[in-house]
Amino acid sequence: MAPTHILRCCQRGLAWIPVIFIALVVCWSYYAYVVELCICNLPISVAVIYMMSFHLSFVMFVWSYWKTIFTRPAKPSKEFCLAKAEKEQYVREERPETQQEILWRAATNLPLYTRTGAGAIRYCDRCQVIKPDRCHHCSACDMCVLKMDHHCPWVNNCVGFSNYKFFILFLCYSLIYCLFIAATVLQYFIKFWTNELPDTHAKFHVLFLFFVAAMFCISILSLFSYHLWLVGKNRSTIEAFRAPVFRTGSDKNGFSLGFRKNIAQVFGDQKKLWLLPIFTSQGDGQTFPARLVSVDPEQPTVSLQPEANKITGDGQTCPLTESQNHLQVNEQQDNHVAKPQECDPMRSGKCPVRTLSPI
Ligand SMILES: [Zn+2]
Ligand SMILES: [Zn+2]
Repeated sequence: MAPTHILRCCQRGLAWIPVIFIALVVCWSYYAYVVELCICNLPISVAVIYMMSFHLSFVMFVWSYWKTIFTRPAKPSKEFCLAKAEKEQYVREERPETQQEILWRAATNLPLYTRTGAGAIRYCDRCQVIKPDRCHHCSACDMCVLKMDHHCPWVNNCVGFSNYKFFILFLCYSLIYCLFIAATVLQYFIKFWTNELPDTHAKFHVLFLFFVAAMFCISILSLFSYHLWLVGKNRSTIEAFRAPVFRTGSDKNGFSLGFRKNIAQVFGDQKKLWLLPIFTSQGDGQTFPARLVSVDPEQPTVSLQPEANKITGDGQTCPLTESQNHLQVNEQQDNHVAKPQECDPMRSGKCPVRTLSPI
């Protein structure tokens, strides 16, 4: 076995340590709460009520944690890969300008809104793929991940388009789990300090249970609040630190469609499924409705034609029309895809350079 392969196997093994740590803490908390507190120390009537509520939050927490860990990150589809001949030509070519020409040609039929900071097509040399909007390469997973948010060591997985809803629910249910434990254990924790509890080892479980639950509550609450804010803005963590670049420049609110639609992008439009760790996010992870409409700056209006995915005067595609057509096709096939808000002026035949404020 090659040394690099062994090293990679070791890295993969070590990456599970945080997950194992969390799993052990959760198992211990289950034992301490159910056995040491409820079964051994509480009257049966109180214990039943506590345990029913505890198990509900426990099941939802474990379910969402499991889905966040074991949902594979989504990667770009084959249409974003260069054809074999283009790939060979790209690798052979040493001049960046010519490489970009190859990418522009290959991207002609792709629905792309965003560029690099220098205005070039975003391309991953490692995966040899044109990056769809909001897609980023994760060095830990060694792959391009659709709508990548961040790589989370606590779930040993990339958080992105395929599992972002699960991640939010994982934070939500872990917060509820910790809050429930802290709230119900508090009175026994106080009794511990006033020496009202019998001097058994259950005492120490109860003491640590409160400390650990309170500690996790504080750290999860800040992370959960931050991600709720991101969902409301339709922004990923990466985009919060580095705004996506459109043809008219960078815009941190470029994908924001308004609060309600932003939430629907992650949680879907069926409210009854919002709290379940079942995939309901809208879209395909490769095309996103954008608020910022970017067309040829010298041409303030453009007609929306069926053959709209044409090359503009500077050799660049008009990404909006292609994306919208793409979305409209998806919309007919699947009602889960959001209507881009900027469709309406486009449908009336006018495409303002910059349009629409969120609803
Ligand atoms: Zn990549
Ligand atoms: Zn990753």
